[in-house]
Amino acid sequence: MFPYRPSNPKPVRSLKKMPTKLIIEQAPSPNFNERNRPIRYVVLHYTGMPSEEKALELLRDPDPKRIAYKAELVEHPREGMAPPGPNLNRVSAHYVAFKNGHIYQLVEEDKRAWQAGAGVYGGETDMNSASIGIEICNAGHDFGLPDFPDAQIAAVMELVKGIKERHGLDKRHIIGHSDLAPRRKIDPGENFPWHKFDAAGISQGIPHAKSDNDKTILAEELGTQSDDVAAFQKSLSDVGYGIPQNGIFDEDTKFVLIAFQRRYRQSDVGGKLDVDCLEKARRLAKIIKPA
Ligand SMILES: [Zn+2]
Repeated sequence: MFPYRPSNPKPVRSLKKMPTKLIIEQAPSPNFNERNRPIRYVVLHYTGMPSEEKALELLRDPDPKRIAYKAELVEHPREGMAPPGPNLNRVSAHYVAFKNGHIYQLVEEDKRAWQAGAGVYGGETDMNSASIGIEICNAGHDFGLPDFPDAQIAAVMELVKGIKERHGLDKRHIIGHSDLAPRRKIDPGENFPWHKFDAAGISQGIPHAKSDNDKTILAEELGTQSDDVAAFQKSLSDVGYGIPQNGIFDEDTKFVLIAFQRRYRQSDVGGKLDVDCLEKARRLAKIIKPA
């Protein structure tokens, strides 16, 4: 059995002092199968569990039903969905990042880990086959959205850089779990420091603009139909999100909007379409041509 290391008792080091050489420890999981798509994406997650060790254990467990794990990692309850029950599915990820920056590899990169689940992005519906998944240990929304320590983020940045180099991935294809499954998932959450990944050129950011300060509401009530809603839907579809193209601010559109906010407008994820969000979506769509 794999020997667990305790959480890092040492103070967190600053990003600048972090070594660029990653140390990756093997902790194999039996929860994988064969890919049937080339690797094109990296999907970032948070575990949503207070215990790093329990999260790692769950991701390596061939029979998670027998243990009463805290269930956030498996399904986060959303409106209209059954709450997560005791019958947990087998799950995994290629990598798990502890708060101290220690990285464990559970599944070989050329195998299909069970991390993304149902969803769509860039037209890809088998995201488990098309992506490498990284679970970042963080207790998440249910436990007050704790910060991600610098050491952990520095390690994940190095890890993603290496994955991109090994597989020739585009920075537009580094996404969050909620981006591909906006109705089901809310991780890695609005507290995840995407700006650091964007600034380092690891993922695709959106340049600042004057409209960043314009919070004029364009759509708030479900059922609102307008050209602005249509323009927002078109832009996010061009970016890769699976979003309706009906010009109506419906429930699916709102869930995608919130996922977009968690990624690109983290200061307000209230699910209202405002000028800032529309303009950000437009700018991002201009940067992102289908890759
Ligand atoms: Zn996830």
